[in-house]
Amino acid sequence: MNTPAQTRDVSAGAPTLLGIPLDSNSSYLRGAAGAPPLIREALHCDSSNLWTEGGMDLGASGVLADAGDLKFTSEASAFAEIEAAVGDLLAKRRRPICLGGDHSVTYPIVKAFAGMFRDLTIVHFDAHPDLYHDFQGNRHSHASPFARIMEEKLVRRLIQVGIRTMNGRQKEQAEKFAVEVVEMRQLPAFEKVRAQAPVYISFDMDVLDPAFVPGISHREPGGMTVREAIAHLHAIRGAVVGADIVEYNPARDISQQTAMVCAKILKEIASNMLAA
Ligand code: MN
Ligand code: MN
Repeated sequence: MNTPAQTRDVSAGAPTLLGIPLDSNSSYLRGAAGAPPLIREALHCDSSNLWTEGGMDLGASGVLADAGDLKFTSEASAFAEIEAAVGDLLAKRRRPICLGGDHSVTYPIVKAFAGMFRDLTIVHFDAHPDLYHDFQGNRHSHASPFARIMEEKLVRRLIQVGIRTMNGRQKEQAEKFAVEVVEMRQLPAFEKVRAQAPVYISFDMDVLDPAFVPGISHREPGGMTVREAIAHLHAIRGAVVGADIVEYNPARDISQQTAMVCAKILKEIASNMLAA
């Protein structure tokens, strides 16, 4: 661990929240667009505090910034607006933590990162590989972002963790793009997430077992505990330059249980950023 956050100059590289309220590319249920304000509310809820498990106070002045939520002019222009907004933050040397929204938003986010970072490694937590060439005819489906990212060669490596819905079509895609897939049944896999910098973390909340996170659209049993997910986040080495937390669907949540888990994951991802 480096020096405590309170005494470091974090004016450059500050983790910065950006809400992305878009769920128009969801294949099954909408609702994820409502997530960003509820994640913020949980983050600042008096039932907990803003310290990370590693001992950093995210509530100290200047440590964690917030760029607010995007307001889209139209669904058709949403991807271009996401890419521009993330690009602006990167130009200011911020480290965006994007709050989805469904998983389709990761493609325009990573496009912006690719303009700034070569050799990016994505560590992708998900029950699903999201590698369909298209889903229900939609190339921008939340089931397809990593197909776009890999065919456009936006990153050097894609490491997927927690996968438990692999099928024939997506297996072909994973092999075609040399995706490093770590299936749920193979965990723990701390060595496999020890990626080199720069690292981008894409965290789909449905990687967690639905027992912990009822507020997701695709409740896939047999997932990670919150503790397993945090342990794998802590195992990532190398500077984390950006992240997203996606697929929280408040319409399916029970008394903000899932929102609190999102806030916890957010804190530990910010901790990753500040530690490197
Ligand atoms: Mn996903
Ligand atoms: Mn998923």
